[in-house]
Amino acid sequence: MRSPATLPDYERVDGEIPVIHSRGMGDRAAEVRRLLQTGVGALSALLASEPPVLEVMLVSDEDWNEAPRENARVYPSGLPYFTRSVRPPALVLPATLSPAFYPRTEATYPLIVWHELAHAFLLQREVVRTPAWLREFVPQAVSAAVARQASLPLEEHLGEIDREPGFTVRGLRGHVDADEQMAFQNLLLALGAAAVEEFGDGFLKRLVHALWKETDVVNEERAEELLAGALGPGGQAWLLSRPEF
Ligand SMILES: [Zn+2]
Repeated sequence: MRSPATLPDYERVDGEIPVIHSRGMGDRAAEVRRLLQTGVGALSALLASEPPVLEVMLVSDEDWNEAPRENARVYPSGLPYFTRSVRPPALVLPATLSPAFYPRTEATYPLIVWHELAHAFLLQREVVRTPAWLREFVPQAVSAAVARQASLPLEEHLGEIDREPGFTVRGLRGHVDADEQMAFQNLLLALGAAAVEEFGDGFLKRLVHALWKETDVVNEERAEELLAGALGPGGQAWLLSRPEF
């Protein structure tokens, strides 16, 4: 297991979560460091959890194939990911985001960083298998909650989302292309933001801690039960009334 710091000529910015970046990406590294600071503070409080031990790597496009990952096959370029193939685990961020990322607003990059950070928080403990929509709902709802706290123009961002991509978050099945994946994530962001608006952000802690307590594979029925239960009174009826769901 190698350290992320072994990418040649990368610089390291120390902090609660260190940022390792290619030369020439100093400005972006400073921005990421600021977003991490906001994110770690907000997520620790929202989820009542210690922050994960983690490093962030900002990888230039030409070094993408050298970035640490779980297996030998190169990952698609432009897509951020979290990897436990190095110690400490690393959140790998590309210099250039995939064109699949949509919409592009002031909130896009912060939401991506907080989404990945939320995965890292969640994976501090064993998480059983769940339907994809629940696994991705948590980081989407969390990043929406942090964006609200940070007063980012979330409404403007949500206003550019396609609310009727031809499927619901529970209905997407089979092989999914990059655009469908983005539409799926955006529906979850809209649903998460609406849930925070309706129920407040306290349900996030209940949902994450309930997920950590699960010991068996979470099936569709159990997933809905967990989310409705975390939302609280009226949660189930509200969920079923949502077009995204
Ligand atoms: Zn995700």
